[in-house]
Parts: sequence; C-alpha cells; structure tokens
Amino acid sequence: MKAIKFFAAMLVGVAFLGGNTGSAQQLYWTSSGTFGPFNIQILVPTYPEARDIMVPVNMWVLDHPKGLVVYDTGNNVAIADGQCASHWAEGICGLLNPSQPRDAIIDKILERLGYSVSDVDIVIHSHSHLDHIGNIEMFPDAIHVIQDKELYQAWWPESFQRNGVHVQADYDDARDFRYFKMDGDYDLFGDGTVKIIFTPGHTMGHQSVQIKLPETGSVLLTQDSIWFKENLEGHPAGLNYSVLDYNDSLERMKMIRDVEGVPLWYGHSIQQYEAMGERWHK
Ligand SMILES: [Zn+2]
Ligand SMILES: [Zn+2]
Repeated sequence: MKAIKFFAAMLVGVAFLGGNTGSAQQLYWTSSGTFGPFNIQILVPTYPEARDIMVPVNMWVLDHPKGLVVYDTGNNVAIADGQCASHWAEGICGLLNPSQPRDAIIDKILERLGYSVSDVDIVIHSHSHLDHIGNIEMFPDAIHVIQDKELYQAWWPESFQRNGVHVQADYDDARDFRYFKMDGDYDLFGDGTVKIIFTPGHTMGHQSVQIKLPETGSVLLTQDSIWFKENLEGHPAGLNYSVLDYNDSLERMKMIRDVEGVPLWYGHSIQQYEAMGERWHK
C-alpha cells in the first residue's frame, strides 16, 4: 500500500515538474452585464430589417496550469455604481443602454469562482474599447497582454472614437503596469494551449484568442472581430478602424473554423451566451 502511495506521489510530482500536461485547463464564460435592447441596425447598418437585440459583454476566466488568466474585463465598475453618465461620454449610456449589476463586475465574478483579483497572473486585452478594457485598473500586479498598436490607439484614438468608445479614464492610471506587447500572433505559454490571434480591423490592434481545452477541444474567442453570426452573413460591424482589415480578419477566422474545425465563440452573441455562458468549459 505504501509503495502504491509513493508511486502515486511520484506521478503527481512528474506531472507537476513537466508543466502543463494539457489536461487541467478550464475556461469560464461570463458577461459584464448586457447592452440593449437596441435596433441591430445601429451596430450593423447593412442589416436588412430593424430588430431589437440584447448583447452580452463577454469576458473569460481561464484556469491554466501556468497561471490564472482573464480575457477582457468588461465595463468599468462606475457603470454598475450608477455613474454611467459621468464616466462615459454623453450619449453612450443612452445608446448602449447598459445593464450591469455590481455582481457582474469581474472582481465579483472572480470571487464567486473562488479567486480574488490579486490571484490573476495574466490579463489578455482583446482591445481598448470601453466594454473590454474597462476594469484593467483592478489588476495592477498582473502581466497585461495587448498588441503594441492597440496601446497607441488607446492613447490617441481617431476623432470618431475619442470620448466615445475609448474611455481614457478606464486606463489612465494603468500606464506603468507591466505590458507584454504583442506584434501579431503569439503562442502565449509556448505549448499551443493559448494562442493569440491578431485580428485587426475593428480596432488597429484587436486580438482574439484560440484556447485548447482537454474535453471541449479548441475554441476561438473572437471578441469584437466578430460580434455575432450576422457579421458572417455579409453584414459587417458598423464600427471599424479599417473595413479592409476587418474583412481579412473575418476571413481568416472562417478559415480557422473550416480548416481546423474550431468553433467560433463570438464577442456579443446573446444566443451563444445563453446557451454556453456562466459555466466552466473543460
Ligand atoms: Zn469594440
Ligand atoms: Zn465589444
């Protein structure tokens, strides 16, 4: 019996020393409240008929053997605290109509999952829009993974996005954080389990993440490079830094889907969120 226990302990030791075995990571899909209802044509001008939609504000928590990872941090906590009109620019609150209870903020979600914000080792930022980078300042000790170009855009957005979807108050105190600056694709842990996929277009430095899970297999978290399935049906998003880059990124993700067989988990699809959100994916 003793020998069996010793052998089992050795096996655990070997697995640990060997780093990630590809068997332990799990991914929690959550949302920083919702936007809407609003007419889909506000977001997607070419959509043929008016229809009211709600959208989730997706965020993910990845429990990985090499560290606890958060992918996007949702709307700033001020929105839940009733300060939308002062934290965001005039008109944005009425346009997006955010509904964000305090317990849908990333710190409370982490608590519910048994972690605290200080447990998070890495925050990956898809891009610097208000519904994705909103709570970066809750993670002063983490490593922040973002495209170098996106940092530039965050600090000097085009005039049509300034004081709108880029909110400098979200990240003005995050200037001296530790940034792992990307320039294109990157295999984050060097083992193929977390691949940063550069998907510019929506913003200058948008990035998506492809994650390999032991039971589910690979999934591609598109965030705002594809909001929802209508974008794949010939109706591009209405907010883009570059429509050309947006379409190239969209085509590339379709290729990953069709060639590798990887499902696309969109950035703002209420149907997908209701079917797969608020639970762990193993
Ligand atoms: Zn965006
Ligand atoms: Zn978004």
